[in-house]
Amino acid sequence: MGIIDKTTYTLTCPKCGAIEVATILDKGSNWGGSHWQSMAIFNQFDTTWEGGGSHEPTLKSATCKKCSSKATYKSTYLGDSLLRGCSTNPNL
Ligand SMILES: [Zn+2]
Repeated sequence: MGIIDKTTYTLTCPKCGAIEVATILDKGSNWGGSHWQSMAIFNQFDTTWEGGGSHEPTLKSATCKKCSSKATYKSTYLGDSLLRGCSTNPNL
């Protein structure tokens, strides 16, 4: 059980400068495989996604709600090894 993977998406609007970060979690298990959330929830952007479940979802499009500009994004994958490394650090 537990969270084994997560991906963080950072959306930026090039026109009005809006920026927002959201995280998608893989709530699967080591024996049952992946079970990704279907999307990340953004308040400042309208987003459409593809995937979810056994496949990591990918962002298909993101539009700024404020000015209707197409947003740019970057995604950062944080896998199992990094999370485990943090939790077993004796200095924390
Ligand atoms: Zn905007």
